[in-house]
Amino acid sequence: MSASDHSKTITKYFHFQGVYTLGKWITPAFVGIDAKGIIQYLSDQTPSDELPIEYVDGFALPGFPNAHSHAFQYAMAGMAEKHQKDTNDDFWSWREAMYQCALSMDPDQLQTVATMLYIQMLKKGYTHVVEFHYLHHDQNGKPYSNISEISVSLLAAAAIAGIRITLVPVFYQKGGFGKPAEERQRRFIFGDVDEYFKLLEEAYSVTQKITTAQLGFGVHSLRAAEVNDVIEIEKQGPKHIPFHLHAAEQLKEVNDCIAYLKQRPVEWLLNNLPLSERFNIVHCTHLNNEEVERLAKSKANVVLCPGTEANLGDGIFRLTDYAKHDGNWCIGTDSHISLSPLEDLRWMDYAQRLLTHKRNTFDDGASYLVEKAILKGNAAAGITNNNFFESGKPFDAIVIDANSPLMSDLNTNFLLSRIVYATDNLMIGTIINGKWIIQDYYHSEQESVANAFSETLKTIKFQ
Ligand SMILES: [Zn+2]
Repeated sequence: MSASDHSKTITKYFHFQGVYTLGKWITPAFVGIDAKGIIQYLSDQTPSDELPIEYVDGFALPGFPNAHSHAFQYAMAGMAEKHQKDTNDDFWSWREAMYQCALSMDPDQLQTVATMLYIQMLKKGYTHVVEFHYLHHDQNGKPYSNISEISVSLLAAAAIAGIRITLVPVFYQKGGFGKPAEERQRRFIFGDVDEYFKLLEEAYSVTQKITTAQLGFGVHSLRAAEVNDVIEIEKQGPKHIPFHLHAAEQLKEVNDCIAYLKQRPVEWLLNNLPLSERFNIVHCTHLNNEEVERLAKSKANVVLCPGTEANLGDGIFRLTDYAKHDGNWCIGTDSHISLSPLEDLRWMDYAQRLLTHKRNTFDDGASYLVEKAILKGNAAAGITNNNFFESGKPFDAIVIDANSPLMSDLNTNFLLSRIVYATDNLMIGTIINGKWIIQDYYHSEQESVANAFSETLKTIKFQ
């Protein structure tokens, strides 16, 4: 892009020590944006016009999409780590605690928790959150008079924080394979598929009013819905927005699925849904060889949540095998026990190294991990990008401090691997639509949200 093509619309430039585009660094880098924050210029050449240039002592990467979030669970992060002797604390006992947390929050409290969470995501490097949303009804299990009440709270939280959001309200009806829903699941449950589509329609009209919001849809999991309803929702649902669903997170879930459906969960999905890039299957921790290959070839996107999957003792996704078949994947923070995309990405590699006793999981781990997390994470959020920092797209970026010791080595061969494998807490800022949302670690709403957040935490019942 040359400045002369677009200089009529450019209103300002940023100057960075470097900008990471797909596979290569531009150093130094000038980014020109128009009044709406859209990229109009990206070059290592100083622009020839006289417009203002903001000098930033940092390196810019695209913001990471967080492809899987349950905002309410942030309130209990770190509170389920004390374990009674001789008891079997696993995913299923953690889930009991999570149900209590879900039952204790009203829409205002949820909005406060989500706002604080989204500010923290922005500080850690996420610029877009996919909110997988199943807390639909009030604490008694009754629909709110405005059936999209909780969707409105989540969207308001994202707007206050300044993060982009893809809201994914999901269908939930059962308490397990072939089992009715339990009383404590009452906030999640729809009577039927029509009720779900009514809520989805409402959620759609609310997201339409916010330029930084969009919609996805889906089903909680095969254990939370009858398979006929899963098929029906996919069939009746919109074809242009992402579909999300949890699958194969736990061995017990796989075994229950085999007992009820005579197929493994991912096998059932492969055999019964038209899986493609539009489908986002969360976890897929337990796959056999055939599922690994078929899932990769389907081009469906696996949403991995390394921090949560480790914390819950789920197991390790077969990334080395899946990558050999060029499978699509991205990351999410799920229960928010960890919130750093860089930490989660390096642990994706380290889990494989610990299994194989080798270091070369990928030829160039940093660029592979960053490329998948960003491009496929965007796809999970409903955004198509073929490159980083494309002309005509909003300028969203995270900025790494150029003054940290390891970043003083400007050898572009190692810049990205130093960022992914060897840095933490080095993000100095986050830009969305060409505007600083976090600058020098600071968010303009952080004090007021912090007060409301600590008051909210005191009221949450959890044991
Ligand atoms: Zn989840």
